[in-house]
Amino acid sequence: MTMVYTLKNGKTFTFPSMFVNPQNPRDVESLWKSDEEFGLPHIDGILVNMIDFHEVYGKLALDSQPILSQEKPSLREKIRIIDPSYHVLLTGAMEEKARMLTTGFFDKKIEKATKQIMHTKLSPSDKTRIIVNDIYPNLTVKPAIDFLVKNKSDAIVSPCVNLSSKRWFGKQVDKAREMLMDTRALLTTSYKAYSEKHDLMNIVTIQKDVVTERNFATLFRLLLCNDPDQVGIRVMGIQESDTVFLDTLFAFIRQFNLFMRLREKRTQIPIHLVNIDEIGYSGYCNGVVNIVSPIASNPYYKFSSTSSDEDRDMSGRYYHPFNMNYPYLSTITKLPCSCAECKRFKQVSAIPVEYRPTFRRKHWLRVKDNEIQQLRETPARLDVALRDKFANSMRVGLVAYIPASPIFNTFEKER
Ligand SMILES: [Zn+2]
Repeated sequence: MTMVYTLKNGKTFTFPSMFVNPQNPRDVESLWKSDEEFGLPHIDGILVNMIDFHEVYGKLALDSQPILSQEKPSLREKIRIIDPSYHVLLTGAMEEKARMLTTGFFDKKIEKATKQIMHTKLSPSDKTRIIVNDIYPNLTVKPAIDFLVKNKSDAIVSPCVNLSSKRWFGKQVDKAREMLMDTRALLTTSYKAYSEKHDLMNIVTIQKDVVTERNFATLFRLLLCNDPDQVGIRVMGIQESDTVFLDTLFAFIRQFNLFMRLREKRTQIPIHLVNIDEIGYSGYCNGVVNIVSPIASNPYYKFSSTSSDEDRDMSGRYYHPFNMNYPYLSTITKLPCSCAECKRFKQVSAIPVEYRPTFRRKHWLRVKDNEIQQLRETPARLDVALRDKFANSMRVGLVAYIPASPIFNTFEKER
């Protein structure tokens, strides 16, 4: 079962779809090498968070011409999206906040309030009070939209505050809605011509504590408030061991699909799950069309004390293609995988130490590309194929999130 979604500018992604989220120069290098050496024909897009823009996006060299003409689809033709990621400014680590302040999106008042949060010992609730009272009134969408247009993001991702606090939920939703509506207003005025050729995508970042049944309807309305072409949800705080929450999350997405179908305007909008690992595969059977994953690194934890490449991912973790888990490379002797990278070395000891970070990434990219291909081409129904894959892995618990009656969000978008 496959279904092709076409963006307004003609680029496409295919259900079940996966985008990757490069976060550092090593990720970019691995992407390019993989692209040139064996291609990644089934990975349909790249999403770059604003905080990583300068380290990553320019180095993708997406507009340069290939030296040799390539027959297979190249990274250059993939969907590329810049996510303003305002949640990093508001609730990121200190070093991340500081980097967000260098984007030029934020004025002096925001800078002052942000520094106040960074350098004083305040309770989380007091910090949120400062964010709501001193940062929200000064947050605008235009600088980010200007930037996305200038840098050719294939979809306009509206900046938006994240929903992180039960106590401040109402105020956070109000501000988020205001920003999403402001983006729509810009796209119908200043950027009218541009918006006719580019999708509007909302990516809303939500802390898992506020994804509760009583908030579902509020969240659905928020996600659709500005009539977007695509909707992305980034849930923070996911833990695979928290089965109660994962049940709630997938119920949320299933009901969101239903909510869209019952609206007056019955268009079905693609749902993206942003910043997720293999858990996202279960999402495909709950109405998710595309997942966005960081490259060979754990999406749910960040080590924020320093910012060197390797500290920002699970250093030395190797994706096991059958077990679907991430053992340390040092615990493996013989490589259990038949991808081009693993075939080259066969034994872990044969991989030069300095090459291992690139090796892990290229292996991950190759295996992921292959997994997506298998899921697309499975002769069985996707939910059956996935259940089988999980059941034969070390992550058999993920079977529980594949519903008996799966929901595939495979409605061709009308233009
Ligand atoms: Zn491999």
